[in-house]
Amino acid sequence: MPGEPPRTRGQRLPVIDLKRCTGCGWCVAACPLDLLSLERTGWKKHSTLNEAERCTGCAYCAIRCPFGVITMQEAGTD
Ligand code: SF4
Ligand code: SF4
Repeated sequence: MPGEPPRTRGQRLPVIDLKRCTGCGWCVAACPLDLLSLERTGWKKHSTLNEAERCTGCAYCAIRCPFGVITMQEAGTD
């Protein structure tokens, strides 16, 4: 993918606490690569990370979440 920085080992990925996510969508709008979307589970909406392999770990989504629902966690160290 031209223009996208390569992922590095030990990179951090956003982990969304689904129980606390309000589905407000701020994180979806914050991602420069448009990797987050809102999914519906029953009557509730929550944010989901798509194409995790493209995530740069920039943490914009985590910073933007008004409820502190997203934490950046170390990806697998293979
Ligand atoms: S860490 Fe950055 S690239 Fe990854 S989902 Fe969040 S805003 Fe998008
Ligand atoms: S900004 Fe936070 S509360 Fe809002 S949809 Fe994203 S993770 Fe959920």
